[in-house]
Amino acid sequence: MSDNPVIRLPAMPRPCPICGKPATARHQPFCSARCTQIDLGRWLKGNYRVETDEPAEDSEEPAER
Ligand SMILES: [Zn+2]
Repeated sequence: MSDNPVIRLPAMPRPCPICGKPATARHQPFCSARCTQIDLGRWLKGNYRVETDEPAEDSEEPAER
């Protein structure tokens, strides 16, 4: 009901969306600055869409209830 809009990333490493390697805390959610640049490039090319009407992340696993 009153969820905080602030998303706190857990300390557990997530797979880099670019190459699939474990992400590092410094470059999360990516594994390195290189993948961050790649993602940034996609942003600039318009591959990413920022949808404000619907929640973008809906693939969260129901770990907690
Ligand atoms: Zn990567």
